[in-house]
Formats: sequence, C-alpha cells, structure tokens
Amino acid sequence: MKSAEIREAFLRFFEEKGHTRVASSSLVPANDPTLLFTNAGMNQFKDCFLGLEKRAYTRATSSQKCVRAGGKHNDLENVGYTARHHTFFEMLGNFSFGDYFKRDAILYAWEFLTSDKWLNLPAEKLWVTVYASDDEAYDIWTQEVGVPAERMVRIGDNKGAPYASDNFWAMGDTGPCGPCSEIFFDHGDHIWGGPPGSPEEDGDRYIEIWNNVFMQFNRTADGVMHPLPAPSVDTGMGLERISAVLQHVNSNYEIDLFQNLLNAAAKAIGCANEGQASLKVVADHIRSCGFLIADGVLPSNEGRGYVLRRIIRRACRHGNKLGATGTFFHRIVAALAAEMGDAFPELKAQQAHIERVLQTEEEQFAKTLEQGLRILEQDLAELKGSEIPGDVVFKLYDTYGFPMDLTGDIARERDLTIDEAGFESAMAAQRERARSASQFGLDYNQLVQVDSETRFDGYTATVGSAQIIALYRDG
Ligand code: ATP
Ligand code: MG
Ligand code: MG
Ligand code: MG
Repeated sequence: MKSAEIREAFLRFFEEKGHTRVASSSLVPANDPTLLFTNAGMNQFKDCFLGLEKRAYTRATSSQKCVRAGGKHNDLENVGYTARHHTFFEMLGNFSFGDYFKRDAILYAWEFLTSDKWLNLPAEKLWVTVYASDDEAYDIWTQEVGVPAERMVRIGDNKGAPYASDNFWAMGDTGPCGPCSEIFFDHGDHIWGGPPGSPEEDGDRYIEIWNNVFMQFNRTADGVMHPLPAPSVDTGMGLERISAVLQHVNSNYEIDLFQNLLNAAAKAIGCANEGQASLKVVADHIRSCGFLIADGVLPSNEGRGYVLRRIIRRACRHGNKLGATGTFFHRIVAALAAEMGDAFPELKAQQAHIERVLQTEEEQFAKTLEQGLRILEQDLAELKGSEIPGDVVFKLYDTYGFPMDLTGDIARERDLTIDEAGFESAMAAQRERARSASQFGLDYNQLVQVDSETRFDGYTATVGSAQIIALYRDG
C-alpha cells in the first residue's frame, strides 16, 4: 500500500466507526502560546478535551501535519540518526471527546491493524505497552484482544532519559494529558534493538507505531492535575512509520513518499543517492521547511522563525557536506509539491513563495557557511579534549550565523560535545556589552558581521571607536 492509500484507509475506517473526518490544522497553532508548532493531532481539539468547546461531533479522525523541532517534543537531533524520526511527519488520529474510552479505543486500533479487511498485520509481530498501574488497559489487551503476556510491557513515567518510553503522554508542560498504551512493531532480528522498556529499545528493531492516549487530566502551570470533564481518547499513528511496516522496509526513508524526495535532493546537490545520512536530513528538512513556510512562518532571529532558520541552515550544512556548491535547497520544493501537493494543496499554491524564501535564506547563509566551517576546522585542529569550548561555539554563532545546534551536529559527527553553558554565558556577556555600549550612544544593532571580521557600521558614538571595539573584544 502506498502511503496515500494508507492515509485514506485510516480515515475511512474511523468514518465507518462514526468519526467525522476533520482536515489537518495549520502547523502554527491557533491561539495557543504554550505551543511552538503543532506537534500532535490532538492540538486542534485541545479545548474539546477541556470541555471549553462543543462541536457537532464527539468522534473525530484526521491526518495532522506535525513538526517536532523544538519545545517539549523535539526530534531535531534524531533526524538522520534513527530510522523513525522526522522533523515533519503526518499523524493519523482518532479522537473521542467524552464519547468512547479505553475499551473501544483498544479494540478499534487492533481491528484496523490486524483485520484482513484493513491492514492485516501479523499479530505476533505487535508488542503492546500500558501505563505501569493501568490494570484496566492491561486486562483489555490480554483478556479481550488476546495479546499474550510475553508481548505486553508495563511502563511508568519517564524520568528524563531522552529516548526511553514514557507511558504518560502530555502535549506540553500544561494541558490535556493521561496514561497511554503504545503499539510497537517488531521489524525482525536482523535489526538491532530491544523490546519497549528494555535497555536496547532505542534501536530500530521494535518501532513504536501507534500511541493510544486515555485523556483524563488537565495539568495546569502549578503542576496540579485536574480531572477532565469526561474521560476522552486521543491517538496518534505516524503515517511514515506504518507505511514502512506495510512496505516491508525498516526505515521511514525507504517508503514510497521519500524516494522522489531523496532523488530530487541528490540531483539538486549533485551527488548520488546512496543512503547517506546527510541526504536523509536534507529530504526530511525540505518537508518541515516547505510546510512551515506554506503555513506562514518566515525565517527570523527569534521564536518560530528562528527554528525555521535553524532547520534551513542545518539542511545547507548537510548539503555542503555532500559536496553542494552554492544553493540547492529551494530546488527540491518542486518535488515536494509534486509528491504531497494532492493531499496538501497549500504546497502547490505556494510553491513559488516557498522557493523564493528558501533561496534568499540560502544565499544569505552561503556567504558565511564555508568560511565558518574553515574556522571551525582550524579550531578543531588545536582542540584539546573532546568538548568544543563555548567561545568557539559563540564565535561561529555570532560571526558566521551557525545556530548552536548546527555546531552541535558537527560535533556529534566527530564524537565531540559542545560547551552549551559556555555558549550561553558568552551570549549573556554579549547582551551585557550591548547594554553598556548603548549607554555610550552606540546602537548595537548597527554592529554588522562582514566576512571573518566584526566591524561597526554607521558608527556615531560619542566616545572613541577603539574603546568600544576593545570592550567588545575583551568581554
Ligand atoms: P518515539 O518514542 O519514537 O520518539 P513518541 O512516543 O515521541 O515516539 P508520540 O508522541 O506518542 O511519539 O506520537 C504518536 C506517534 O507519532 C508515534 O507513535 C509515532 O508513530 C509518530 N511519531 C512521533 N514522533 C515522530 C517523528 N519525529 N517522526 C515520525 N513519526 C513520529
Ligand atoms: Mg519522541
Ligand atoms: Mg515513544
Ligand atoms: Mg509515544
């Protein structure tokens, strides 16, 4: 089954179960300052769970555009390193607003996955987790559905490990949340990894495909969990992950949808398509960047715009690593619009705009990328130990426009780390300098970066420039 067919089958299945098909909402959350980007299908229904909004339906189904590149759910660092993470992905979901609860949610999920009328997956390859103390869900899975105890795992709250399962789902620090039950697919013993809850679960053998959240609480900023007006259901299944399962490939990057994108990326860069991690990163990033721009985000130096800028610059760096000379990223947009424009017409409608925004941003960064990389090489040649000092990370940021995570990405490829705290304090020191410099009548915003040197432009301060520059250098 092609991914477009899987998307359609999912929506149709839940329509047959009385759900209303609802279109994806924008990646920019409407009226929700707690959220950077839409990160799950339930976001647009947040107020329905909270009982603040009544709709004409109590059951809904959708395929939601999601970006996880910042905020509570941040997968940027995973992209290119795991078989299953993207910055942009589609989340298939079914929702109950005070209608059905655990039992029906579990039975629906199992029917869709295993019935020969639908996906027809072999039951023995599916593993199920429940929240540690959720005996009710455990009993439904084992007694009604018949999942054997040896493929059932109880998992509690994640105490901070970055990858380990966490069976209490929350969209952010505040908002609707509840215990969940996740379904994993075993891709086979030729792939490294262990079952959920084991030390090796982070491998790509057992891949989480579907999360069923039993929404029961609203967590407020003081950490208190208030019961929701009615128990509800929120589920999310990654379209790319279930497509990989059905297309008998382990990696999301091998599914139909990614083939054209990878080829287009290779062509734009001028390299072969041979499974390089950097090529996957570029093919991944064109989706998040294209969709974010289509939803109205523009690169900038703060907030959502800075996340977009970071993703674009990361893509540029990976393209450069594959040998790209000059700009290439905007030339993949046509393939993206061709591949996904039927399901998401905004891509076709805004193709020219997306291309323009990316090209401008690429041209701007191209000026400093190569030079920054050269400077970094020099610094690395002299590096003692395995940590890139904060002032080097800051210099790359401040003079060459390297977001911290971009330098972190390069560091990781060489088994190095970066001194984040040192970077932050260099950043704070710069802010302090800007403040004290402005007391001398200098507008710090007129400080511009040119090539490898920092110089002042339009300098009109009432004190000697040498004094200010010394202040800048010494700090
Ligand atoms: P993982 O543990 O693999 O990072 P998750 O537990 O963070 O996934 P959920 O928040 O439960 O994911 O989201 C529901 C579903 O969305 C997942 O079961 C998965 O199929 C899909 N999904 C989540 N994050 C990503 C991602 N970064 N790229 C692609 N699909 C994803
Ligand atoms: Mg995750
Ligand atoms: Mg998980
Ligand atoms: Mg999950």
